[in-house]
Amino acid sequence: MPSIAITHINTLVTNDPSLGSGPLGRLRDAALVVEDDRVVWIGASSRAPATDSHLDAAGRSVIPGFVDSHAHLLFAGDRTAEFHARMSGQPYEAGGIATTVAATRAATDAELARRLAHFRQEMARQGTTTVETKSGYGLTVEDEARALRVAARQLTEVTFLGAHIVPPEYRDEPAAYVDLVTGPMLDACAPHARWIDVFCERGAFDAEQARAVLLAGRARGLGLRVHANQLGHGPGVALAVELGARSADHCTHLTDADVAALADGTTVATLLPGCEFSTRAPYPDARRLLDAGVVVALATDCNPGSSFTSSMPFCLAVAVREMGMTPDEALWSATAGGAAALDRADIGRLAPGTRADLALLAAPDPVHLAYRPGVPLVSAVWRDGARVA
Ligand SMILES: [Zn+2]
Repeated sequence: MPSIAITHINTLVTNDPSLGSGPLGRLRDAALVVEDDRVVWIGASSRAPATDSHLDAAGRSVIPGFVDSHAHLLFAGDRTAEFHARMSGQPYEAGGIATTVAATRAATDAELARRLAHFRQEMARQGTTTVETKSGYGLTVEDEARALRVAARQLTEVTFLGAHIVPPEYRDEPAAYVDLVTGPMLDACAPHARWIDVFCERGAFDAEQARAVLLAGRARGLGLRVHANQLGHGPGVALAVELGARSADHCTHLTDADVAALADGTTVATLLPGCEFSTRAPYPDARRLLDAGVVVALATDCNPGSSFTSSMPFCLAVAVREMGMTPDEALWSATAGGAAALDRADIGRLAPGTRADLALLAAPDPVHLAYRPGVPLVSAVWRDGARVA
């Protein structure tokens, strides 16, 4: 496999403090060498070794590819009218998630695969090199399993979210639906997934139901994730920490005890500002979590109902403007933080031996991601050493 050097990088963010300055491990006038799917060398541009080919960054910056650790991309249908009505101050009765479930059940495997590939490429163009995606719009044994089969052909970070909502046909017997999720549905889905997730919220699944789902998943070898404390205070975060979930996602409404539990535990707090932005809801307080010593990740929550953005740069800019994060903290959380939320050491940073997942920015410093919101700064992206955008 030929090697390529990227030279004259004004600012190279490694997220490895042993390679450069500060928590981001920043290097000035740097170079980076990629061979096969790995980074093999990082150092001063003037000392870059000879390679088969060469790209002059000409004073631009390079960052690890974004790690979007929370998305819902296995769906069909369209909810434009619902958003349009909500943002126009008009009531919207029909629809909601049931619209997406009906359309997803009616879609072919090929259509789900085509849509997933489309979103993956849309994300790559915005600098995202790893995306996690969840099921949760099928909500039958066969529809959940085939969505995960489709996802596993394209992605490694695949999450079984049969416990997204109680589907309409089980409205009067939610306990029977939990039995389905933890029994036959888990049997059919576990072979295609790395993670299990549950929406632990009033109106979805309570603490006891969420615990049953998570313990059943763990018994099948799946890692744990929890949709927690999005709409109000609740037991989700405490449960996630107690069970050693890799990530508690949303974390918008937290008590002091929730924050202390996250700080003492091993669970990453994944914040999803696209959701609050798109629903005109109050943002999570990232500053409070960071000051307590909690590991924070940023992700898009890309989904057709509450956050239809696939843009990590957008989420990063909102986190800086609205959630009290510094530009450096937000960049770390969108890269290394996402990798931590997925328990991955080979992505989210750039050092000899890591995957060659990186983005070249048309900016002298990645602070521009927050400084110039909405501007398409990503000029090239490599995933596993291959140029993908
Ligand atoms: Zn979600």
